[in-house]
Amino acid sequence: MVLCHRLITSGQTTNMHKRKRILVTGGAGFLGSHLCERLVNEGNDVICVDNFYTGSKDNIIGLLNNPHFELMRHDVTFPLYVEVDEIYNLACPASPVHYQYDPVQTTKTSVHGAINMLGLAKRTGAKIFQASTSEVYGDPVVHPQHESYNGNVNPIGPRSCYDEGKRCAETLFFDYKRQHNLNIRVVRIFNTYGPRMHPNDGRVVSNFIMQALRGEAITIYGDGQQTRSFCYVDDLIEGFIRMMDANDDISGPINLGNPSEFTIKQLAEAIINLTGAKSELIKQPLPEDDPLKRQPDITIAKQQLDWQPSIDLEAGLTKTIDYFRAFVDS
Ligand code: NAD
Ligand code: UDP
Repeated sequence: MVLCHRLITSGQTTNMHKRKRILVTGGAGFLGSHLCERLVNEGNDVICVDNFYTGSKDNIIGLLNNPHFELMRHDVTFPLYVEVDEIYNLACPASPVHYQYDPVQTTKTSVHGAINMLGLAKRTGAKIFQASTSEVYGDPVVHPQHESYNGNVNPIGPRSCYDEGKRCAETLFFDYKRQHNLNIRVVRIFNTYGPRMHPNDGRVVSNFIMQALRGEAITIYGDGQQTRSFCYVDDLIEGFIRMMDANDDISGPINLGNPSEFTIKQLAEAIINLTGAKSELIKQPLPEDDPLKRQPDITIAKQQLDWQPSIDLEAGLTKTIDYFRAFVDS
């Protein structure tokens, strides 16, 4: 299955590159499309599986004619039979608006999706990566959040379908490792933003940028003093690759995110400054169970993956604003 391309130079044989066959579930989404692009560009064969619940062909349009990229419309809550070397399991809506729209399907996607992808990994012997989330910490009482913190999650609230679904997926990953000796990689992703977020995604960065570019009021939920730590997508994808390529004794969970913490009001002000918008800030009710603060402790990522983000909020927002301008101008 793994093809070795060897370069013969002046009598030396160098193992230059192994073309791997890699499955990316949720590959037509925001993060998945960036990951597919990176993996294809690095000389791999990528199978992108997506049911287009929140993803779109537009995100992967640049890959559709590439012979090393294959798109499959498939729902991960159903079994999948393909031959692969590695699996990145990203399928799951990530915006609270979208994951709360059909909460039963959200839990099924996380739990049945994990079972199906872990079964596939068991049969093929593939290494398998799980896109988990800072939401496993819920509304944290420990700050910043270290991987050893077990979290403060409401099991019956509107966010539970996502939080508990992702927690159960982590359980399944570690049980498959213990019980079936699977080679697993679990990362806990903190708020990530960048080009290809859906303009109507409902998450804070896309909402604020679209509102600013349209000259509309910026909707601050609650008093705007709740915090988030925002990571630019390119930094995150680098972390994914390092995690998948790390030594086999590294399974995680490992936090991936940018530790620079901002209040939501500060984020709104930064976006107003960078867009030059005249938007006013208006307050709307804080959604139930909305975490008050969130900041990753990335000590383990630094130590085990030699990874830390390099793109600050202003630079990342500038690139993201440029991307969103097309949706307003057209
Ligand atoms: P996204 O909504 O843009 O992408 C999710 C993709 O999964 C979409 O293409 C969607 O169509 C697909 N999908 C959903 N249900 C599916 C199913 N049943 N079968 C097949 N495909 C399905 O979100 P994203 O921001 O790209 O998030 C990707 C992953 O990263 C998710 O698992 C999410 O939980 C995780 N994550 C993201 C963030 C973030 O800040 N972006 C933070 C924490 C965790
Ligand atoms: N938020 C906001 N206005 C918006 C969208 C979100 O004030 O238009 C707030 C939301 O209440 C939360 C934070 O921004 O406190 C981040 O929300 P998001 O939906 O992006 O992700 P979360 O981290 O809550 O999953």
